[in-house]
Amino acid sequence: MDFALTDEQRLIKETARAFTDNEIVPRARDNDRNAHFDTELVAKIAAQGYLGAIVPQDYGGAGLDYLSYGLVVEEIGRGDSSMRTVVSVQTSLVCSAIVRWGTDEQKQRYLPKLCSGEWLGCFGLTEPDTGSDAANQRTRARKTDSGWVIDGAKMWISMGNVADLALIFAQTDPEKAHKGLACFLVETDGNDGYQPQEIHGKLGLHGSDTAAISLSDCEVPADAMLGDIGDGFKIAMTSLESGRYSVAAGCVGICQGCVDYCVNYAKERHQFGRPIASFQLVQGMLADMKVETDAARMLVYRAAYLKDTGQPNSTETSIAKLYATEAANRCATTAIQVLGGSGYVDDHPVERYFRDVRVTTLYEGTSQIQKLIIGRALTGINALIPS
Ligand SMILES: Cc1cc2nc3c(=O)[nH]c(=O)nc-3n(C[C@H](O)[C@H](O)[C@H](O)COP(=O)(O)OP(=O)(O)OC[C@H]3O[C@@H](n4cnc5c(N)ncnc54)[C@H](O)[C@@H]3O)c2cc1C
Repeated sequence: MDFALTDEQRLIKETARAFTDNEIVPRARDNDRNAHFDTELVAKIAAQGYLGAIVPQDYGGAGLDYLSYGLVVEEIGRGDSSMRTVVSVQTSLVCSAIVRWGTDEQKQRYLPKLCSGEWLGCFGLTEPDTGSDAANQRTRARKTDSGWVIDGAKMWISMGNVADLALIFAQTDPEKAHKGLACFLVETDGNDGYQPQEIHGKLGLHGSDTAAISLSDCEVPADAMLGDIGDGFKIAMTSLESGRYSVAAGCVGICQGCVDYCVNYAKERHQFGRPIASFQLVQGMLADMKVETDAARMLVYRAAYLKDTGQPNSTETSIAKLYATEAANRCATTAIQVLGGSGYVDDHPVERYFRDVRVTTLYEGTSQIQKLIIGRALTGINALIPS
């Protein structure tokens, strides 16, 4: 087994690391404090090619392999999970769906704009009454002479307030259940039927944009459908398979950020006349974080390897997502313990890690849903089908 990165992958990681340290880290605390969605910073991230990292170069993307994409996301995740969420949503949830399911016309129309950051996208699957049971969409799409009319509501949609393009999942025929599900490419500019509203009071990700979206007589043309009627659920799963990988990679970044920060802090902070790093119990906390970080990273690398070699990887991606998100939550908790009272204020990034990481075991499929996917692979029994 070869665990070494290629020269190119090492360069990609070093470049993303320097970009994160120079551009993202210095703005992270203020953006968090001011709940500011930093479009200027998003433009810089786009200029690096990170918003279309895995999109083929023919469509304006960087054409990276999944391992390289994961290395970039890890670094950005170490810097700021709000910005990592932008990359994950735009690249994995939106672009990857269009790459996989779009017509050439749709790819030509949307991918270059999304990769360059000229347009932002969002992924509208979750609804007020439809979360983990994503196939049970209440949003309805009705065929008209000129296209489709969509009515319903979406909830917790990252970048929903700023999106130029929204992937909206809707039911075209409730009697057909998942065979009636479809995904629509909704251009938001001038579309009065698309009404987003900002969600305030989040625990973390204060620098990210999150929306509740009302869809009322939202008209789209006939060619706005991505894939066909009945493909909606498969499209959502395609996106989530990429998105879960991206979240997992971002969580490796949080783990690594905790290790780096705590090691430095523990060597500088003195108690009982010695650096706290010399106490065995403190070293134990550092060691626990390091083991979790390496284990999470290896699971992400395995998922990347399977993706890059075209092998099935749903289960392995869920394993990476489950472990890395839970590990990052544990690391962020431990990091505050290492810093003591200082870890409780935002003078140090671990306080923000602690709040930002909490959502990662919820979005893109909760930890319980990942366990059911893994359990289904082990037993052949699908606990996700309602009885
Ligand atoms: C900040 C933020 C950003 C988000 N961004 C997006 C986005 O961009 N696009 C989007 O579509 N969604 C987004 N989401 C929504 C997110 O994906 C959902 O919150 C998540 O899927 C869980 O759905 P829910 O909140 O409705 O919880 P529920 O589905 O109601 O789950 C509640 C609890 O019940 C458990 N549960 C549910 N069903 C089962 C089961 N069968 N077996 C065992 N346990 C079960 C869950 O694991 C959880 O613990 C975002 C959420 C947040 C908080």
